[in-house]
Amino acid sequence: MMSDEEKNEATPTVKPKELNKELHHQITAFINRKAADPNDKCVVCGSPLNHVLPTEYSVVVQPDEGAVASGLLMPLYVTACRNCGFVRLFSKNYITAILADEAEKTAGEGTDHGD
Ligand SMILES: [Zn+2]
Repeated sequence: MMSDEEKNEATPTVKPKELNKELHHQITAFINRKAADPNDKCVVCGSPLNHVLPTEYSVVVQPDEGAVASGLLMPLYVTACRNCGFVRLFSKNYITAILADEAEKTAGEGTDHGD
């Protein structure tokens, strides 16, 4: 039988990163805006009840995964279907970069940055 100390060693302690309300709304709006179908239907069951989960997730990746990764963890935003439970993963780094790029374009509207 494992002691509590042994269990703690076996299970990495990861602090949940909660999305604040503003960021949660921003990610939801971003995914809705990018969705080809305005109802953003679940690819498994067709339900429109897909929600951005209020926590940031990470998956472990190899160190040479490039721009989608931060070190050995790839940070993700996650949506889940309330009807069937299907989960979709979105790159936090890509979404953050796209939103920053869009904000820069909006701020520089009327000027040519040449990108
Ligand atoms: Zn579904």
